Amino acid sequence: MPTRKKLTILGSGSAGLTAAIYAARANLEPLVIQGLQAGGQLTITTDVENFPGFPDGIQGPELMEEMHKQAERFGTQFIYDNAEHVDLSKRPFLIKTSGEEILTDVLLICTGASARLLGMESESKLMGHGVSACATCDGFFFRDKNVYVVGGGDTALEEATFLTRFASSVTIIHRRETFRASAIMVDRAKRNEKVKYLLNSVLEEIMDAEKGEVTAIKVRNLVTNQVEEYPADGVFIAIGHKPNTELFVGQIELSENGYIKTDGVKTSITGVYAAGDVQDELYRQAITAAGTGCMAALEAQWLLENEEAEAEKKSEVSAQAPTLATSAAGKKE
Ligand code: NAP
Repeated sequence: MPTRKKLTILGSGSAGLTAAIYAARANLEPLVIQGLQAGGQLTITTDVENFPGFPDGIQGPELMEEMHKQAERFGTQFIYDNAEHVDLSKRPFLIKTSGEEILTDVLLICTGASARLLGMESESKLMGHGVSACATCDGFFFRDKNVYVVGGGDTALEEATFLTRFASSVTIIHRRETFRASAIMVDRAKRNEKVKYLLNSVLEEIMDAEKGEVTAIKVRNLVTNQVEEYPADGVFIAIGHKPNTELFVGQIELSENGYIKTDGVKTSITGVYAAGDVQDELYRQAITAAGTGCMAALEAQWLLENEEAEAEKKSEVSAQAPTLATSAAGKKE
């Protein structure tokens, strides 16, 4: 028998946990299917300096642990598993995990986004063996090593600066001359003498997949079209993220880039709301995810309240109907 819930949240990042706090405090007894990266993207970052309320910053994993405790305090139930299948064709919506089936009146999609990769064979073969998409997780393993970071956004610049805590040399490979990253990140990296640059350049090959370790890389300069080989111990891919929407393809409206289309937090399906990075191509911040998580919980609460009020009205009318029939019948007699 499937478990019956009023409100289920997919994902336990900043959006999902904020939604859970609000929904739990509204007595909706939310269920959070956490996903296997419980806590979301902030669990793989170090210092979070831009989340209001922490003037000295806070570690990402610690912030998520606090949010989890806050949601739990008000009665949120958690399942540590991935949703493997959802059916959004009718309400209540069906969700299947590896071990459970849940029927839910309202679904909040807070599944976030994951790191994008370049798609080279050598990249996937050497992933976890010198290639990483998370400097915070793996930087420690590159003490006194020579590493490269691919990308020109805030993540790349932040990760490059972070990696200088361990590595002897960090080189940013970026396909353009100018950075997409914010000025403060660029300045911080430029002030760090361990950070070097290969601009107008793309990573073409990571060696040595056969040895199972990173020994060198090949980089093409897009201006001269020349390919050069550089010795390397590690490569960090930091070229952005893709929304985690595979489960919903063909069931809900998605944008060109695969994000869930929303009006505020409302999706194309009544009773399904989306919050956080899964629907946010622009801001993608922990605080905006938390904000939309709150909005989704409030929208869900209002929908359920309206539906309950409607159902009550209907049952009152149908309870009165036999009385009227009886009195009409009485008159006839
Ligand atoms: P992003 O802003 O989308 O930047 C991705 C970078 O990777 C761009 O420089 C892009 O190059 C490059 N790139 C994309 N595909 C590539 C490919 N196939 N080959 C080579 N290069 C490729 O992603 P992000 O840096 O992860 O940042 C995402 C969001 O999070 C942003 O809004 C950012 O401000 C925010 N963020 C904030 C902080 C912070 O405030 N502490 C830290 C990290 C991230 P082009 O520039 O040429 O497109």
